[in-house]
Order: sequence, then C-alpha cells, then structure tokens
Amino acid sequence: METLAWMQAKLPEFLRDLEAFVRRESPSGDRAGLEEAAAFLEEAFGPLEGRLSRKDTPAGPVLLLRREGEGAPVLVLCHYDTVHPKGSFPEPFHLEKDKAVGPGVYDMKGGIIALLYALRHAEATGRRLPPLEILFTPDEETGSKESRPLIEAAAKKARAVLVLEPPTATGDLKVARKGVGLYRLKARGKAAHQGVEPEKGVNAILELAHQILKVAALEDREKGTTLGPNVVRGGTVSNVVAEEAWVELDLRAWTLEEVRRVEEALRGLTPVLPGARLELSGGLNRPPMEPTEASLALFAKAKAIGEALGLRLEPGRVGGGSDGNFTAALGVPTLDGLGLFGGDAHQRTEYVVVSEIPRRTALLAELLYAL
Ligand SMILES: [Zn+2]
Repeated sequence: METLAWMQAKLPEFLRDLEAFVRRESPSGDRAGLEEAAAFLEEAFGPLEGRLSRKDTPAGPVLLLRREGEGAPVLVLCHYDTVHPKGSFPEPFHLEKDKAVGPGVYDMKGGIIALLYALRHAEATGRRLPPLEILFTPDEETGSKESRPLIEAAAKKARAVLVLEPPTATGDLKVARKGVGLYRLKARGKAAHQGVEPEKGVNAILELAHQILKVAALEDREKGTTLGPNVVRGGTVSNVVAEEAWVELDLRAWTLEEVRRVEEALRGLTPVLPGARLELSGGLNRPPMEPTEASLALFAKAKAIGEALGLRLEPGRVGGGSDGNFTAALGVPTLDGLGLFGGDAHQRTEYVVVSEIPRRTALLAELLYAL
C-alpha cells in the first residue's frame, strides 16, 4: 500500500517530531509543561489546512483544529497530558533496539504524532479527508473535568469519534470500556470514652466494617462488575469510640444497567448498629463505553483496512476509561485505540514499537479517508 510506503519513508522524521514532543514533558496540572507541549502542537498542526484555535481553561489550554467540509465532522480526541511528574524517566526520550521510550510516548503523544503524519500525508497526496474536528486536551489523566463539556459538545454534532489512545496489549482496537464510578461511604457514630462509658458510644468503624462486607457482595465478577473498597479511614485516638469512618469505593462495569444496580444498592444500605448513620457521596466518573451496531460497523471498516496492511485487529474490551466513554454514552459511534502500538502505560518504562509506527499511522490515515 502506497500510504504505508510513504509512512515508512517518513519514519526518521516522525521520530524526530515524537522526540521533540515527548521531551516537552506535560504532566496533568503542570501549567508550564502543558504550555510548552501546547506550543509544540501549535507549531506542528498550525501550518496544516484548517483553523487552529485555543481555549484556556483552569486545567491548561485546549486546542481545536477544525477542517471544514461537507456534512457532519469526524471528531478526533487527543489528550496531551501524561501521568508522569517531570523528571520521572532517567532520560526524557531514548531509543532502545525497536523501542522508543519516554513519558507519554505511548499514552498518547505517539498517537498525536501519528495523526500529524496522517494529515501531512493527505496534504502531500491530495487525498480527500472528511470534515474534521480535532481536540487536544490537557486533563484526561485526571478525569477531563474541564475538557468534558467541550468534548461532549463537539461529539453531539459529529458523525463518528476516533480516540487516539493506544491499542490493547495485543494491538487490538477498543470498542468497549468499563464505566468508572467513585464513591465514598461514610459511617457516623457517637464518640465516648472507651474506658469510662463505652456503652454511650456508637462505633463508626464497626458500622463501616459491616457495610464493607455488604458492599463487596455487590460485585458480579461474571458480568465484570467490580467494586473495590480500596481506601479506608476512621477514628481519632485509641481511647475514644470512633465517631466517623469512611471507605472509598471504585466501581467498574461494562454496562449502565450494572452501574444502576450497584448505585441503587449502595443508596439502599441501612445501618446495622443502633444509632449509626450512613452517607453516600460521589458518582459515575465515566459512563461505560458499550459497543453499538454503528461503533462495530466503524470497527469493521478499520479491521478491513488493517487487513490490507497486514494487521489482524479484533474488537478489544478494556477495564480502563478514556474520553471515548463520554462520546459513546451520547450514542455517537466511537472507536478507540487508534494510537501507536507499544506497552507499559503509566509506567516509567512506557514505550512504542518503532517498526510498527508506519502501519499504525497508515491505518489511521486510511480510516480517515474511508470516513
Ligand atoms: Zn491516555
């Protein structure tokens, strides 16, 4: 395929751009780092066809590249923040045999450079792209609080959404992601002197212990629903009956139906100890990304293109969330995992496989042409 040959020829240039981008370390919340990475994006994508605009948010700049055309646009989602505090890697970028290693190289700066080359390919060859809206956001790794309304507004007018997160560990694209809910269950009791009049107290820790076992029973491993009581705090000092205690719960589920079932059960919990009270706070952070007929049709397109490139792609399902969860929940066909192949996401050994870069980049370009 000609596109693949073009990408192969561009690989040295691709790696230089990838290095320049990765070296501008941009952990979520690091204003200076995010500004530098955004400046790189403006330099790289600015000269391309379309209009690049910028919106400053408390989380950092959100960039939007818009290419007009006929019909509803294809929305492409990219986040340029990473989970790695500056200086986490021994070297900010290096090549090691067939790997390029660096903070965010895999999740997902590599995917962003792949998009850059897909767009450059279109300009070099004159091939037609659909109308595009490309969002570059600074806060995905911390839950997309600022970007979410912008992502959802753009998705509502889009015909399809492509997410440039990396593929699965086996290289598959992502058609389903679990929803993620974060809850805090608090037990309130009554403080009393443990030695003098313990009978006047209501022990919140004891109450919470009863509740944690009920909570754990709400899991449904067969359906893939998990509920982790992973943080617990309570009490003040050892000679006072504990007045307060709370637990943080991490819910993951494939379907909204399961989320609702668990949420209802959590809200329905009743105290076991006389005089104890319960309070539930928190909610769904990312709704489940459930495959639909339209999103599977989108995957089938990508699969056929992958075959022509020698890639065998399956419809992957993963437990972690992305911004694709928001768009899929709006009913917009969403395909995720279109970034670069590699591994060790969120670890200090994060890498992409260099020899696979041309194929993944060609896949992205050809998929854009096909839409
Ligand atoms: Zn990511």
